[in-house]
Amino acid sequence: MQIKSNNFIPAAQIGINDAEQAAAVRKGTTGAYNNRLAAVFADGKAHGEAMRRQAAAAKRRTLKHLPDLLEQAEARMQANGTVVLWAESAEEANQHVLDIAQRHAVKRVAKAKSMLSEEIGLNAVLQSADIEVVETDLGEYILQINGEKPSHIVAPIVHKSKESVRDLFIDKHAMPYTDDAGEMTQFARQILREKFLSAEMGITGGNFIIAETGSVCLVTNEGNARLVTTIPPVHVAVVGIEKLVGTVEEYATLTQMLTRSATGQTMTVYTHMLNGPRRPGEKDGPEHSYVILIDNGRSKIYASNYAEALACIRCGACLNGCPVYRSTGGHAYGWVYPGPIGAVITPLLQGLENAKQLPHASSLCGMCKEVCPVDIDLPRMLLDLRHDLVEVGVTDRTWDWGIAGWKTVNKSPRLFELSGKAAARGGRFAPSQLPGPLGGWTMYRSLPSFAPKSFRQMWRERNSDE
Ligand code: SF4
Repeated sequence: MQIKSNNFIPAAQIGINDAEQAAAVRKGTTGAYNNRLAAVFADGKAHGEAMRRQAAAAKRRTLKHLPDLLEQAEARMQANGTVVLWAESAEEANQHVLDIAQRHAVKRVAKAKSMLSEEIGLNAVLQSADIEVVETDLGEYILQINGEKPSHIVAPIVHKSKESVRDLFIDKHAMPYTDDAGEMTQFARQILREKFLSAEMGITGGNFIIAETGSVCLVTNEGNARLVTTIPPVHVAVVGIEKLVGTVEEYATLTQMLTRSATGQTMTVYTHMLNGPRRPGEKDGPEHSYVILIDNGRSKIYASNYAEALACIRCGACLNGCPVYRSTGGHAYGWVYPGPIGAVITPLLQGLENAKQLPHASSLCGMCKEVCPVDIDLPRMLLDLRHDLVEVGVTDRTWDWGIAGWKTVNKSPRLFELSGKAAARGGRFAPSQLPGPLGGWTMYRSLPSFAPKSFRQMWRERNSDE
């Protein structure tokens, strides 16, 4: 997926002005936010906070021992009969999937939702090799037939209204008119069922891999991942190396926090623990099972001050709580991962120069940290990224000049006083809309009026009166 994150400001403007999208995002995120609150604190505040601390500690332990856990997971998965492949880059990961598909003469792939597959651009690679890829998560399927990208890491079509989905199905599939979401789902299900039955390969991501058992764990609500991982003879899981957890016990805590934080459920409808291919005597499951462990920039993050970002379990709670995301929607962020976690990992994975506006796409209100089930300090990382932007010199020129001017004035008492006087005298003639690049500041706010006298002036006058 081509990165467009340096276009954040105009893209955000489009998102804010799109009334239908704004209403859909507001409704979706508000509902998810409230559901999370109810689910995380269902057994009281203290219990919810204790679970959160436990989940955060489990992920920190995993990160501390990540290299060892990856080796342990590889050995366990191999013992389960899974072929484990490693990929340093997106290209290498895609080549692995392509090789597997060609080895098994695959013509159609049924795919469950995977943000990592979006990150590496897997669909385009398979399609260019004449392999049909069918997204089987309902939201992803809707996006696929409309040529769109997800705008949320858990609810990919949070930006779409029911009416727009209805019109799309009528347009693309001649669906009989209905306003009933259940009927629309049934309609899509019939189309997808036929695709499941004829796919030679199923592709999923992985919410977790448990190192001590070698299990690939998935949480879903639609049941499509169960079909993707049991009907086709080949199953491939593409999983980021940060998705490890050490033990089943840690997994139990993390998966509960994931579902509570993502959708407000104590458990999702389907919870999968996949342990390799079908064994003799088993009735279903793939004949061949592959797991591709993908780095694609994660080792670099692991070695940096931002390693904490790898604790993310992709629950989406920080998106639902973020006032910026809730206003702009996810497409404004210009790459795969939107919201506060996207504002942190996009510059880290794609380069600061390609996402220089994202660290500023936050009011630093702290909500993202407050709702994060693994207590990632996103505001700290956003501030550090702003610092890095200045260090490596990829800030906006106008901004640089503005800061340089502000610094010069504030370092000199004389200039400070003079500028205060000038602002007090000239401020009343200033237009309500500032011109040029300064205009962005007054687009949504009024220019504050300056006090007629500065504090220094009043201080001097008071002292001279005594
Ligand atoms: S940073 Fe935290 S809140 Fe945001 S998606 Fe990741 S785990 Fe969820």
